[in-house]
Amino acid sequence: MSHGKDIEGQSVRPKNQYRRFAHGIRRIRGRALTSTIVSKEVPPLADPLGPENKLIFSAGILAGTSAPNNGRLSVGGKSPLTHTIKEANSGGAVAQKLVRLGFQAVVIEGVAKELISLKVDQDGVRFVPSASYRNLGNYDIIERMRREFGENIGVISIGPAGEWKLKAASVAVTTPDFHIRVAARGGLGAVMGSKNLKAVILDDRKSDQVEIKDKAKFREASTALSKGILSHPLIGIFKELGTSCLVMMMNAYGCLATKNYSLGQFAGADKISGEHMIELMKKRPNGQHVHRCMDGCIISCSNIFTSDHGEVIVSGLEYETIGLIGSNCMIDDIDLIAQINRICNDVGVDTMDVGGAIGVCMEAGLLAWGDGKAALDLVKEVGKKAEKGLMIGNGCRVTGEKVGAKRIPHVKGQCLAAYDPRSLKGTGVTYATSTMGADHTCGNAIPNPANPSYNPSASTGQGPVSQFLQSYFAAIDSLGLCLFASLPLLDIPDLQKHLVACVSAKLGSPLGENYLTHLGISVLKAERKFNEAAGFTRKDDRLPRFFLEEKLLPSGNVFDVPEDEIDAVSAWPL
Ligand code: SF4
Repeated sequence: MSHGKDIEGQSVRPKNQYRRFAHGIRRIRGRALTSTIVSKEVPPLADPLGPENKLIFSAGILAGTSAPNNGRLSVGGKSPLTHTIKEANSGGAVAQKLVRLGFQAVVIEGVAKELISLKVDQDGVRFVPSASYRNLGNYDIIERMRREFGENIGVISIGPAGEWKLKAASVAVTTPDFHIRVAARGGLGAVMGSKNLKAVILDDRKSDQVEIKDKAKFREASTALSKGILSHPLIGIFKELGTSCLVMMMNAYGCLATKNYSLGQFAGADKISGEHMIELMKKRPNGQHVHRCMDGCIISCSNIFTSDHGEVIVSGLEYETIGLIGSNCMIDDIDLIAQINRICNDVGVDTMDVGGAIGVCMEAGLLAWGDGKAALDLVKEVGKKAEKGLMIGNGCRVTGEKVGAKRIPHVKGQCLAAYDPRSLKGTGVTYATSTMGADHTCGNAIPNPANPSYNPSASTGQGPVSQFLQSYFAAIDSLGLCLFASLPLLDIPDLQKHLVACVSAKLGSPLGENYLTHLGISVLKAERKFNEAAGFTRKDDRLPRFFLEEKLLPSGNVFDVPEDEIDAVSAWPL
């Protein structure tokens, strides 16, 4: 990639520049790279929506290869929602195009004077004036880009919420068949909007295959990895039901976020379950109960949710959206949840923080519990730039404070995921101590039939579990491996060796047996240092008090992990 000139206040970096930050980990990518750049180059006290913040896109190390499920795109920056460092990642087609075009990362600096897009292809990088795309939703912008640039592109874009710098604004990423996946959390869409960047279009026609130094070793390791992943019983469930299998599982376990985290079970769970959704999709025209969000996926946990008439509503409808907008708001109408999901994707806001915001509005009496139509109308207000729409578009904490809610389910400004931490206490420690606010993808300690000795609701012993998972998933996010494909590696240790062997064969250099651990720890160190310099202390690593005081029904659990156990995680690995 050539070194682009400053154009309209933005600049483009030469592609080799970031190797100097390797910290002993060779050729870092994905979350390791986005977090390294943020920690080295963004002043910790910078305004997340100001010119000093940076927005970084990077594919994982194995993106573009035939290793299974390796094509996540990491998006990084300082979060306007949490004011911590942030990486959100997404499936889709873009990461693989990025690496085929020879990029380690795209770093967006400064602020453009006018709304622009960035076009990246074999001829280099150019800025595309985009004033005519102002306030367009993601579905429209993607269609326009397809018409203008053809079918070989991948698109990263923001909707109006990003342009308006709403704190829960998301970044949309296209799949190979032009559905929308989302790097949803932390408000990175607002960072993109603050740069006046509407879209990044990648066209990898005529580009080279990704270089693999030792092809034979790579093939062998990649085949063994795929076989091993598919052998795990959990993968069979994800292949059949997708992530929405978790609705009935978490409901049975009594930790499905329900009625703004006041209950652990939802009476209408079966109506919003994966089992129910699949039956619908099997009957409805154009519905698909299995779908893959990226090339090379061997699980296909996604879906295409359609209306009775076969109109595509959203792809895919996932557990976190169903939990936060469904059970958390007592809405048991799967069609309304899907419609709300579509509007969130189009305007460009995180369904999880918006679901949390609707929940606190319901608790404050602005809407009735379970009134899906009123929730749909409220979400439509975001795109109209109406007062209440802007409020929920700024997420759960802002909304809760505005409506005077006493129980606001957030950590550092970010809404919890749809797992109640009183019964999943390891996940609770992760919510409290992750470098990114309440974020289950940083280390979700859910019950696992393959590991029956782990008790997720025990009061002690959760710190080390969360600590291990936080390091593990920091490494996984740096390789670009899909989280679901990474779960079997926790139970079948040989699979970690195959994964590391893939990386080693790709790079053409041996990697130590503790490669994943070292990689994860180095990422967390950089992230924690940044947060510490931004003013965060152990006191910030706490769950809202109501989780410690109110008993969760039906178990009667409270979150009672001792503070010193939580503090030990906060202090590590610095
Ligand atoms: S398992 Fe699901 S999330 Fe992961 S790559 Fe496949 S479709 Fe995407």
